[in-house]
Amino acid sequence: MNPAELIQIKEQSNAIPITDLRHFILDYTQGSISNETMTNLLKAIHRNGMTLEETFSLTESMLDSGERMDFSFLDNYVADKHSTGGVGDKVSLILGPLMAAAGLAIPMISGRSLGHTGGTLDKLETIPGYKVDLSLDEFKRNVNDIGISMIGQTAEICPADKKMYALRDVTGTVGSIPLICGSIMSKKIAEGIQGLVMDIKIGNGAFMETLEEGQKLAILLEQIGNNFNVTTDIVFSSMDQPLGRYAGLWCEVKEAINCLQSDGPEDTMAVTLELGSRLLIQANTVSDKSAAMKMQRKLIETGLALEKFLEMVSAHGGTHADIASFQTLHLPSEEAVFSAQQSGIISTMYTRLIGLANSELGCGRKELAEVLDPTAGMEFYHKIGDQVMEGEPLIRLFNSNSEKLNTALNMLSTSVVIGEKHVDHQLFPSTD
Ligand code: URA
Repeated sequence: MNPAELIQIKEQSNAIPITDLRHFILDYTQGSISNETMTNLLKAIHRNGMTLEETFSLTESMLDSGERMDFSFLDNYVADKHSTGGVGDKVSLILGPLMAAAGLAIPMISGRSLGHTGGTLDKLETIPGYKVDLSLDEFKRNVNDIGISMIGQTAEICPADKKMYALRDVTGTVGSIPLICGSIMSKKIAEGIQGLVMDIKIGNGAFMETLEEGQKLAILLEQIGNNFNVTTDIVFSSMDQPLGRYAGLWCEVKEAINCLQSDGPEDTMAVTLELGSRLLIQANTVSDKSAAMKMQRKLIETGLALEKFLEMVSAHGGTHADIASFQTLHLPSEEAVFSAQQSGIISTMYTRLIGLANSELGCGRKELAEVLDPTAGMEFYHKIGDQVMEGEPLIRLFNSNSEKLNTALNMLSTSVVIGEKHVDHQLFPSTD
């Protein structure tokens, strides 16, 4: 079938034969189908969706466009975690080492900041010397030797997704559920994992604003996981306010270290331990949630999880001679405070707006080549439901560029709503 015929099938909302879809994807990756032709297909998919069979075929084609890792020689349970993205979400930095300390093997391929959300890779790069672009052989060696490695997507992993994702980003076709699920799952399956836990963020700072939207994503992710023999657990967690006390680059690494030193904020620890429990149960390391919680707390209290984090940093070329010296690293030269405009109870935090302001500070990019500011970030003094007084500091902003600081401060002016009523905030939204 020629490309025009294939696109017409999808434009008419019919199912594309899977062998034709596969050829189309692989030909596009090799360059014999143009970006323009692929854009037409992506738009037709975005408009008319995909059948389950087409989604599996898309995922498999993206997987087969590159290398698929194999850790079956390891005795350990091989697993990973993925988050749909948010503001202040540093959970991967805590959970990865924690799970490795529990005996799981964690080959984690992470992403950069996207829109208003932060990226694990950008945060890791603020650790002096830390290399995110190890070769796949070095990556595999780390997973084998120390149980964990955290890198960025390489040219060998799902090149079809890499090319299609870049095109989706500029053609307004990012928000299609089959395209999102195929994209996420192809990269995870390529890691050679047996199990996955997905943190689907729900709320005004998430890509999925409602639980209903999140559930659609969850169902398809689980179906893809089952089809490719990857046990997939889903956790829905709130992104109606930033997670933890900090959002930014280096400040999030520091907060993750605090979490590994038993000094983390309650919400961040609750999300981390929930996700970790799912993985430990999948791996048969423990039989129930209470044992999983106990084990994780112990690994943190004894310092073993932090030790694993430091081992990973060393294996990636990073320096951590004296963890106390981290306190004086990447000190911002600028600082401002956003204060409460009236007294009352915080009812809403416009988290997307807060994330965009954070990106403006220097934590995100408007263009691909933009250099980030490792000193940039925000500290949140309050959460939804807190009582505050007029003039009381709500958010501290910091970076090393006064112009960007002022722009970000102005962006925050409508970011926090203060009312009179008592407000309950659920960290784990559910329908029951
Ligand atoms: N993350 C991905 O890897 N792919 C998507 O399509 C969306 C988020």
